[in-house]
Amino acid sequence: MSFSSLGLAPSLINAVTEIGYTEPTAIQSAAIPAALRGEDVLGAAQTGSGKTAAFALPMLHALLAKRGAARPAAQGLHGLVLVPTRELAAQVGEAIRQLVQHLPVPVKVSIVFGGVSINPQMMALRGGADIVVATPGRLLDLIEHNALDISSTATLVLDEADRLLDMGFTEEIGRILALLPARRQNLFFSATFPGPVQTLAHHLLRNPVRVEAASAPEHEPDIAQRAIAVDAVRRQVLLKHLIKENKWSRVLVFVATKYASEHVAEKLRRNGIRAEAFHGDFSQGARTEVLADFKNSRLQVLVATDVAARGIDIAQLPVVVNFDLPRAPAEYTHRIGRTGRAGASGIAVSFVSAETEAHFRLIEKRLGIRVPREQVAGFEPTGTAPVVHPATDTVNGGVKGTRKSKKDKLREAAAAAAADSE
Ligand code: AMP
Repeated sequence: MSFSSLGLAPSLINAVTEIGYTEPTAIQSAAIPAALRGEDVLGAAQTGSGKTAAFALPMLHALLAKRGAARPAAQGLHGLVLVPTRELAAQVGEAIRQLVQHLPVPVKVSIVFGGVSINPQMMALRGGADIVVATPGRLLDLIEHNALDISSTATLVLDEADRLLDMGFTEEIGRILALLPARRQNLFFSATFPGPVQTLAHHLLRNPVRVEAASAPEHEPDIAQRAIAVDAVRRQVLLKHLIKENKWSRVLVFVATKYASEHVAEKLRRNGIRAEAFHGDFSQGARTEVLADFKNSRLQVLVATDVAARGIDIAQLPVVVNFDLPRAPAEYTHRIGRTGRAGASGIAVSFVSAETEAHFRLIEKRLGIRVPREQVAGFEPTGTAPVVHPATDTVNGGVKGTRKSKKDKLREAAAAAAADSE
């Protein structure tokens, strides 16, 4: 399969060639022809699958077709891309800008997200935009300030729909949908499809073409999953040991709280490892700086909370460590998806203690995986697993999804995100 066989405009084929893509990824081959026909698309795809270009290329194709001699943004907003986090907004927006740079006509791409001053974003939107990449709350703020009109949007993209809902954006999405024109194209991407995501997809999409990244094994991420049994109190020393022993050059460590993020990073630093915390209390400037340090190898280890780490795209991230296990199975999938990007291989290590063994077993069960427990010499666990009844399991706050209503689950997901107070 080649890009030229997908039906894209020659200038777009030229753009991807100049960027260096030689052939479409599985999700691109499947989604682009359907989207070019104007159909709605329901994509099962993770970050790393090439999904950004899968929705951006057809969106740009349609924009070029209607642009003619008109000025950029003159015909109102063409494409609206909703994403769950500011990092993802920046990443997706920049990826689209990269494509646009190689086009013969100017296309205005605006990136908007919360947590920073609204004024520069209002200024940037003056004169309109062709494509807006936005987090839902800030988008609504801008619409309320009359900085943006989405009533003529031709294409709506929901990127990482599962995380949009996990982060409690259900209400905002409902308000945004009410402001969009009824006639539009919808491109819907999600890594996982729990009940609420299916409900939203059903509500939003008309006869969608279903596409799946997993259908092409050559593009499946190559991630070796490991689970190490260790006493909870020894995880810190084990982490240091593994980093030094394996000479891991770049490690993303997941912890449950901001406090743990600071604490684990501090202990690593005391052992001469260049580590930094990464959580939601950081200003946007500090986040950008820490991420830049991590990307250019000034930092070796980033100790992050889930919410802070969402959407981080680091091309070469060989190792992810679950120091604290994620609460929900979907979060496990997202965390390990941070490694093994775009064809590279990666390792995802989970620390499992006697207290969290039952919780990890439930995660495995829900995801249909089984990760053998390993022991590391010198760190053999001394504790024994407490007897836990799976149906009433309360270890680690309980696994979400144990026969709760959809509303309960959504509320819990929102509460969990808020509890991490990001
Ligand atoms: P995404 O899943 O959209 O975040 O893309 C993951 C990574 O794959 C990004 O770094 C893209 O630049 C890269 N990528 C996307 N499409 C292709 C392609 N067809 N060939 C090679 N790399 C690609």
